[in-house]
Order: sequence, then C-alpha cells, then structure tokens
Amino acid sequence: MLRFAPSPTGDMHIGNLRAAVFNYIIAKQKNEKFLIRIEDTDLSRNIEGKDKEILAILNLFGLLWDELVYQSHNFKHHHSFAEYLIREGKAFYCYCTKEFLEEKKQEAISKKIAFRYDDSWAELEKRPSAKPVVRLKGAEGFVRFDDEIKGHLEFAPAEIDSFVILREDGVPTYNFACACDDMIYNIDFIVRGEDHVSNTPKQILIQKSLGYDKKIGYAHLPIILGESGGKMSKRDSASSVSWLLEQGFLPQAIMNYLISMGNKTPTEIFTLSEAIEWFDITNIAKSPVKFDIKRLRYLNREHLKRLNESEFALLLQSKDMSIGAIGKLHLEEASTLNEIREKIDLIFKPKDIAKHYENENFEFECQELFKVLIGMVEVDSKALNDYESFKNEAMSLSNLKGKKFFKPLRILLTGQSHGLDLSVLYPYIRFYLKEILHIKDKQ
Ligand code: GLU
Repeated sequence: MLRFAPSPTGDMHIGNLRAAVFNYIIAKQKNEKFLIRIEDTDLSRNIEGKDKEILAILNLFGLLWDELVYQSHNFKHHHSFAEYLIREGKAFYCYCTKEFLEEKKQEAISKKIAFRYDDSWAELEKRPSAKPVVRLKGAEGFVRFDDEIKGHLEFAPAEIDSFVILREDGVPTYNFACACDDMIYNIDFIVRGEDHVSNTPKQILIQKSLGYDKKIGYAHLPIILGESGGKMSKRDSASSVSWLLEQGFLPQAIMNYLISMGNKTPTEIFTLSEAIEWFDITNIAKSPVKFDIKRLRYLNREHLKRLNESEFALLLQSKDMSIGAIGKLHLEEASTLNEIREKIDLIFKPKDIAKHYENENFEFECQELFKVLIGMVEVDSKALNDYESFKNEAMSLSNLKGKKFFKPLRILLTGQSHGLDLSVLYPYIRFYLKEILHIKDKQ
C-alpha cells in the first residue's frame, strides 16, 4: 500500500501535493491501494477544518483514496507497541526534566561537542510525582537505506541517540506514530519531502526494534525553491495550493507542472492518467527545483486550450458557449481564469470613455460612434450580421476614420484600446451588443 500523510496544521503546500501525486501514481502503477493518513497527533498544532480542506483538494485533483485514517485513532496501538518495546528492554522511561536537558545541551555547546542523550541520565531526576517520557534505545550499528532519488544513505549510531517515542502526556511523537502506522498498513514505498530524510533512520530503527523486517522503499523529494532562490516558504503565496486555484490555475495544469518539475517527461503537456503510463520516480533530479510561475502559466494556457467551448463556459460560470468561446480567444493574451474573467468583465462593464488610452483621449469620437452603434442595434441593421459590413456601416455613419474610428470602436466593444483582432471576436459578441454598448456615467 502507498500513503500520503498530511498534517492538518496548515494550508496544503505544493510540496505536499507533489508528494501526494507521486504516491498516488506509484500506487496505480503497482496496482496497490492508496491510503490517506491524517497525522493529527500534534494536538496543539491541529487546525480545525484543515483535514476537510486537504481532502477536498485531493479530491479536486482526482487523487482518490481507498482508505482514510486519522492517526489519533491508532493511539491504542502506538501505546501497546511502546509497552512491548519497554518489556523487551528496547525502550525505557526517562525522567529528565527540560531544565536538566537544557543544562546538558549548554554544556555540550561550551565544550563544542554535539549534544547526545546519555541513557544513564534516565532516572537521575526521578521524583515520585514526575511523569516520564518513553525513549527508544538509540542505534547500535549503522542504519542504512537506499533512496530512489538520493541514492545510498548511511547514518552512524552517534546520529541516532535514544529518542522520545511517547511524550509525558502519553501522546506518541511523529516518528513513532508514523513508523507504527506504516507497519500496521503494510506500506511498501514512501515518497515525501527531503525534510524527512533525518527521520527515516529513526523510523527504520523503530520498526526493527518492533521486529518488523520488511524493507520499505523511499524517495525523498528535493525541496522547492521560491523565485528568489531561497526555500519556498508559507509566505510565498504561490506555495499554497488554494491560492493557485483561486488565481484560476487548473488542477490538471498544476498537476502537469508538479510532475514535470526536475523531471524528464516524454511529452510537455499531459494528464494524470497519461503520467501513470510512464512516470518513473528515479528520473526526478536530486537538486532542488525553482518554482517557475511563468512555466505554470504556460501549462495552464495549454490545458485551457484543450477544453472545448462549453467546458470553458462552465469554468466561467456560464452555460453560454459564446462566453466559452470569448474566453478561449483571450488565451492569446491571458493565462489564468481570473485574467480571462477580467477581460470578459471589461467587455460587459460600462465603458470609461473619459479616460486617456495610451496618452490619448477619444471621448468625443466614442460619443459619436456610440450614438451610431446604438442606432444600428435599435433598427437591427442588416449590417450587424458580419464584422466587415458592421465596420463599414459604422464608419460611414460616424464619419470617423483610421485610428479615430478603430480605437473608439475597440474601447466601446472591449473596454480596452488594444487587444484581440476585432474581426475574430465580433461573431461571439454580436448577439450581446445591447448589453455591451454602455458608457460609464461621469462622476
Ligand atoms: N505529516 C508529515 C508531513 O506532513 C508526513 C511525512 C511523511 O510522509 O511521513 O510532513
């Protein structure tokens, strides 16, 4: 079984989504189940409702799960595993106070040596009322594993000293809960962010101590860097999946982008089901990748182009294919649904003719042409049928020529002084002329 294990402690980051996508793809390729495990053990950091938000995002991206578990429901199993480890002498109670450990850390700093927990400290601070934590005995030998992206990794015993598996209040730590659950659900392969590399030897040690010798495969994904080259943090709005969706990036484009980051793909534009055919985690580059919003914009445009007019109209909350068609035409100059919505809004909003367009004012000409166009619409002139005759009649009735005709025409029809070829746009706006021809009141 494969799993994705989000913590309900914040917004879904694109790095998390990337891990979810890869775990999902591998599950499909191996014909195995896909589990979602909500890692809600850090009770103080859980945010109400984040679990539902994460599930809604996964659903929207088509990452459908076969099983869903909340890690806190498995506390009873984590406890019985911890009791087993204590009975076997592989884990022990530790009564060290925070102050005591802090003192030892300061000592190590002043001696310029790495801080290591010493098992002989466990009961030094023991008081009748004190609540102990439970620690797993540190590694005796090297812990090794092969990572599909990073290659062979080794951790010396000194790097894995006895670490906490149950806190004072009996709540399991992330490493313990995670290692137990991966064992309980028979997880075969784990894709996650490289910030977890140092956790992996601890999780392997937990499983070994529990007598579990199944070899789990690992792939730790390189971090995603922001445009500035630093680690992409929660403060970069583009790192939030919800933000990208709000901007009008399509799930299929975001997915296409996340799969192609630091990867060699057989085609540039693809769907999730196509990626399932050829995806190979070992092709993912070791080095960190920069988040490139320009590339995402390009992919978004390409995926929008693949939609037909009625699909496009629905994304713009309209049932009218002409609106879908107007949206599609604007892909020449816009890349997200929001940008396209803005352009369509400009077409239908009352036109601001008083302002300057590229340092020029066409107020007088707009007014003259407006009267002519309204007249043509009122009498339902035959010339409205196609752009050529529409343009010719409007030109002759208004007595305007060249730029003084074309700029006002564009402003009155689109709210902008430049943009798409009007002859291409006209057939789709022809039946909306009554709604489109409005002038903004003077303030
Ligand atoms: N809850 C962890 C996270 O969101 C899961 C890491 C893992 O996949 O083990 O980073």
